[in-house]
Amino acid sequence: MLLIQNAAAIVTCDNTDTVYHNASMLINGREIVAIGNATAAWAADAHIETFNAQGMAVFPGLINTHHHLYQTFSRNMPALQNMELFDWLKASYLIWQNLNEDVAYYSSLAGLGELLKNGCTTSADHHYVFPHGAGDITAAQFAASELLGMRLHAARGSMDVSKKDGGLPPDSVVETIDQILKAGEDAVHRFHDSSRFSMKQVFLAPCSPFSVSAELLRATALQARELGVRLHTHLAETRDEEAYTLERFGMRPLAYMENVGWLGSDVWYAHGIHFNDQELTLLAQTGTGVAHCPTSNMKLASGVACLPEMLAQGVTVGLAADSSTCGSDNLLEELRVGFLLHRLSSSSKAPSAYDMLKVATRGSAQLLGRTDLGSLEAGKAADFFLVDLERFACIGACDDIAALPGTVGLKAPADYVFVNGRMAVEQGCLCTIDEKETVAKSKPVLERYRA
Ligand SMILES: [Zn+2]
Repeated sequence: MLLIQNAAAIVTCDNTDTVYHNASMLINGREIVAIGNATAAWAADAHIETFNAQGMAVFPGLINTHHHLYQTFSRNMPALQNMELFDWLKASYLIWQNLNEDVAYYSSLAGLGELLKNGCTTSADHHYVFPHGAGDITAAQFAASELLGMRLHAARGSMDVSKKDGGLPPDSVVETIDQILKAGEDAVHRFHDSSRFSMKQVFLAPCSPFSVSAELLRATALQARELGVRLHTHLAETRDEEAYTLERFGMRPLAYMENVGWLGSDVWYAHGIHFNDQELTLLAQTGTGVAHCPTSNMKLASGVACLPEMLAQGVTVGLAADSSTCGSDNLLEELRVGFLLHRLSSSSKAPSAYDMLKVATRGSAQLLGRTDLGSLEAGKAADFFLVDLERFACIGACDDIAALPGTVGLKAPADYVFVNGRMAVEQGCLCTIDEKETVAKSKPVLERYRA
């Protein structure tokens, strides 16, 4: 048993938006047992280990619902800095086609490590580039998350339409439908753990309507439902995509996805910027979710997602960083950028800073189908981060602790992060790896990749 003792505040994001003051949280193994003020009674039990949280605020672990960890290794190339999505993808594939399992391992360590340090305890990763002969990329990603002590939902993504068939990717990174379905089944059997508090899950995730065929989308939806895993892809990200599906299939992107069986509470889409009102209603009615990626949408000039309307209509929305090439490796940053972006575009109709925290916790957990995550309450996983309120950035900022990450912003890593009741970040540093040593080991891999 572990007692997080005498925290200045515990922001729970529970059903009644409870914020405890001068409270403690009792944990048994991976699970929260109780939160409240019976601190003295709990602390008297000799079998309980205590963690002194005096002067700190406790928040639920943030959950990242869309990412591309491999892109960490190509995140600041001058030629790519000023492009919109389609041109950016075509230029990026020239590098990504050299990807292998070593690149996947070290870029996952770096990307997940940054996310974890900044309060993210669970991340989804949408990996869809599987060059021929690149090794076991999914195993490499899970090896990285396991070493860090972080939860990972990894995609077995796919592409089957290359340049020669009117798609964007080069021939060397696409596979046949048979190869893709076999690889998806293998990944689920090898890695997917559907048990409560599980650290590893797999979902199936063709890349986007402009790099996969309708036949693959249909087959993947059937396969995911047979295997009991979730479905994910990019959708309604740009006007170019809308023009592509209208021209090729005579339908708007969501109508096209509906046509291939992709609506339901087991489906979530990355971005969802260009949905109209009827489409938002359809998403809400079917429980189909959206991963909101504010920084990426700004950097690639894709547009502003109608988050206020989505939340008002009851669409399930989670937060996402979408890789440090186009977005970030930092959900605290995304939370604040999202708050500011919607203040600018919607003023008083924008989600509050606390609403943004709930999108990043409860909303994200719902997208990933995790009823055991997303809030701090008895029976949920002990995933949380602590912030020392005595840092400069918090002076004068403690009137509304639940709003703090959005309104003021934290601007530095969390002080401590726990996943499944185990400390993974201590005083802002990763517990299980040495950052400098990892950077040194990554460099030759990065050089070979980029050569
Ligand atoms: Zn993406």
